[in-house]
Amino acid sequence: MKYLFFSLASVMCVLYSCGNPGAEKNSNKEVAVSLDTAFNSFKASYINNLWEIYPGWASSLGYHKNDSVLVVNDEAFRKKEIDFANSNLDSLKRFSVMKLSSINKTDYYILENTLHGMIFFGTEFKEFEWNPASYNVGGSFAEILQGKHATVNEKLRTLFVRMANISAYYEAAKKNIQRPTMEYTDLGIQQNKGSVDVFKSMMKDSLKKSSLDANEKKLIEARINESVKAIESYVAWLTELRTKLVVPDPTVKYNSTAVMARSFRIGKDLYEKKFKYDIVSRFTAEEIYNKANHRKEELQAEMLKLTKELFSKYFPQVRVPGVYTKEHTKMLIDEISKKHVKRDLFQDAIEKQIPELTKFVSDKNLIYLDPSKPLVVRKEPAYMAGVAGASISSPGPYDKEGNTYYNVGSLAGYSAEGAESYLREYNYYILQILNIHEAIPGHYAQLVYSNQSPSIVKSIFGNGAMIEGWAVYTERMMLENGYANNEPEMWLMYYKWHLRSVCNTIIDYSIQVLDMSQEDVVKLLVEDAFQQKQEAENKWKRATLSQVQLTSYFTGYTEIYELREELKVRQGDKFDLKVFHEKFLSYGSAPVKYIRELMMND
Ligand code: ZN
Ligand code: ZN
Repeated sequence: MKYLFFSLASVMCVLYSCGNPGAEKNSNKEVAVSLDTAFNSFKASYINNLWEIYPGWASSLGYHKNDSVLVVNDEAFRKKEIDFANSNLDSLKRFSVMKLSSINKTDYYILENTLHGMIFFGTEFKEFEWNPASYNVGGSFAEILQGKHATVNEKLRTLFVRMANISAYYEAAKKNIQRPTMEYTDLGIQQNKGSVDVFKSMMKDSLKKSSLDANEKKLIEARINESVKAIESYVAWLTELRTKLVVPDPTVKYNSTAVMARSFRIGKDLYEKKFKYDIVSRFTAEEIYNKANHRKEELQAEMLKLTKELFSKYFPQVRVPGVYTKEHTKMLIDEISKKHVKRDLFQDAIEKQIPELTKFVSDKNLIYLDPSKPLVVRKEPAYMAGVAGASISSPGPYDKEGNTYYNVGSLAGYSAEGAESYLREYNYYILQILNIHEAIPGHYAQLVYSNQSPSIVKSIFGNGAMIEGWAVYTERMMLENGYANNEPEMWLMYYKWHLRSVCNTIIDYSIQVLDMSQEDVVKLLVEDAFQQKQEAENKWKRATLSQVQLTSYFTGYTEIYELREELKVRQGDKFDLKVFHEKFLSYGSAPVKYIRELMMND
């Protein structure tokens, strides 16, 4: 690695020495091209080195060269991580970022942020000390075993080598864990128990089906048994630890074996920093939290106006004394939700909508959609079942020719009652908004554009807030442009849907930074955001097992919307929505903050 950076540095010197600022435009251009070429080779070697440090991550993206390596997260490994981050930050300094192409400029900033993040997560955030669920070998073994990249025999041989580190892996985990949170300890026990099955059933079944000779089979089976033992020993160790874990309370005297649990609330300092590295916004987390509160009030006011307008249409017999309240809005939402597609026509309805959305987008000149990259609607595959109502699966960076799928959840396993409640949630109106978000012109359209500005850096470190923000932005943009003929019912349902992203931001910050109680969180979601109690309880649970991610939807949306409005003011008559959308997406899945800089300077 050292040698590589050294040789890269000498390339750079050559480039700078021929970059004479007084020279003709033509030769300046040549220098710029070679600078980008040098940066491209830097990126390529960076990614290669990254995959040596994180073979599991590589494997999940379809790069299987290092599948036989199971990384043991010990002190030596963490030192390697930090050294990697520091030496790459040094290498980055050798490129003058302003001279790079737009695609490389954003890649540069993404890499820089990621490397600083690596140092923060390794030395300050230190999740390896308090999240027992971060140690789990099941998923990666299952994924490799199910992969289509190699034969069963090849995969079993690879996994045989990979299994050799399982004991060391869990021994390191036991050493790392200091003060875990209760929630992650429970999750770690539950999920690792599930992983035992991957070895006892999946691996053993594959072994039986393989054509390896008896001797090799015996060796592999012995190692599978050792692996099961190692996982079970970790589960037993966690279960024992869990009995000693107590939530610190100064008024209680604990006995000497008690272990003080860490709070799942990470507090303001760590939250702001994690927000900075994960979301990459030009705002702080606190500023976004304030914006979300403001937006919530705006939405509720709009919803009350619509309630006034629509109430008597749906409840002609109910007399409303005086003013309308949130209760009336809730009644109205429940009533309008009864309009939904039939259970067995759910997938059909989605399929039919895709060409309608495409036509609307083209009739209204909102954005160009490449007809040669069709979206395939399919029933959600079994291994994804139960994850979400609908989602987009895109081909990974190492599988460019793969299809893009729109996975639609099946209602087959639902009881009549369960299906009815699901269909009301994804009612006639919300289903359309969902299709806008997931497909056109949301995630799917963004993806097509992002693939046209190929950047392996953005495929790997694609900014979640930009990706989700775009999908959330398009919901509002479509309605603003007259989608669904400005039907008040559609607007009301849109506001309810949008409130979810807004409240995700509010509760995540409130829970992690402001100490909000479970009771108050559920109350806020049910009363202010019109959610079902069960949905609200699930959201509480999710928020105790993650930090910051829930704010990505609203943060990205806000930044895109504000950028558009600022450009409108600045460009006046010359502003063109289609041009704005296409330009915005042309930079790939980069943080909005960086795209903003490039568009503002354009
Ligand atoms: Zn119904
Ligand atoms: Zn989304």
